Amino acid sequence: MSAEPADATPTHAGSCHCGHVTYTGGFDLAAGHIVKCNCSICHKKGYFLLSPTSTPSFSLLTPSSESELADYQFAKKLIHHYACPKCSTSVYISGFFGMGKKEIPFMAVMANTLDRRLDGEPPEDLRKVKIKYIDGRHDQLELLDEPFPGGAW
Ligand SMILES: [Zn+2]
Repeated sequence: MSAEPADATPTHAGSCHCGHVTYTGGFDLAAGHIVKCNCSICHKKGYFLLSPTSTPSFSLLTPSSESELADYQFAKKLIHHYACPKCSTSVYISGFFGMGKKEIPFMAVMANTLDRRLDGEPPEDLRKVKIKYIDGRHDQLELLDEPFPGGAW
């Protein structure tokens, strides 16, 4: 096989546990990282956040509309926490980080909902994907190599 261009991000398919929710997206697991955050919901739900290389590369395949997903919002309701309405698996979050007066668009899937690559290559070994940590509890997006207070490995 010829070498792929460096910016060719493999498209991955993912799903909830029962398969009701399915999606595809471009994820660079070789060069990218998974983010763990110490904020109240990321910590309690044990999120492993993985952002697609671009928001447009993400597509919800089933169900046909986000309105058919379980959607949890709280506080300023800037972020949708989407889960499967049947099996309750958290699948992705989408919305805005409130950073003082700024609102930064944000979207991430749960890395542990990835199933396979659409190019036929074997799925990446998640053990080899670097985990980075943010201090979402204090609205700080700086990435460190170890958890901030209140977080967990
Ligand atoms: Zn499900």
